[in-house]
Amino acid sequence: MMATKAACLVCQIVENKIPSKKVYEDEFVLAVLDVNGAVPGHCFVMPKNHYSIIEQVPDIEIGRLFQASNKISSAIFESLGVQGTNIFVANGVPAGQTVAHFTINVIPRKDNDGINLQWQPKQLSEEEMSTVELKLKEQTKNIGHFEKEEKKPRAYAAKPKIISEEEEEYFTKQMRRLT
Ligand SMILES: [Zn+2]
Repeated sequence: MMATKAACLVCQIVENKIPSKKVYEDEFVLAVLDVNGAVPGHCFVMPKNHYSIIEQVPDIEIGRLFQASNKISSAIFESLGVQGTNIFVANGVPAGQTVAHFTINVIPRKDNDGINLQWQPKQLSEEEMSTVELKLKEQTKNIGHFEKEEKKPRAYAAKPKIISEEEEEYFTKQMRRLT
């Protein structure tokens, strides 16, 4: 696989090197309209610090990101006259992630808007489900231990993050883990 060493697109948006339509900004979070969105009002909510996938984002920033997403969802309800929103993360390449910078999508929804986020429900086997339940229970024992450190806001003059070969590798490895 070719190692890519390109400046992260999202970091360039954060640094104003790529113009964007900003709908919200604070020291940790930036939210912009997706120019190629599903509908007008489709927002990207992202950390100003560079993280490829959700597992890398510190708890404090996750909190701030979902708080902002919730408020943006409310703003969409108030101002765009929609009946619903989808708030979702494409975490990893197989999940549809296209840029190596963690992003939350907030999508305005109306009845019969033609946006398809649905999957076919299946009848899963009891045995399979039990195995998965045990595996997950084992791994989720530590949920509830939150990081205490508050991450410093990103310095504004910082250069857009260059994705290193190492990070690219990590990203790819995480992707495989998620399949
Ligand atoms: Zn980035």
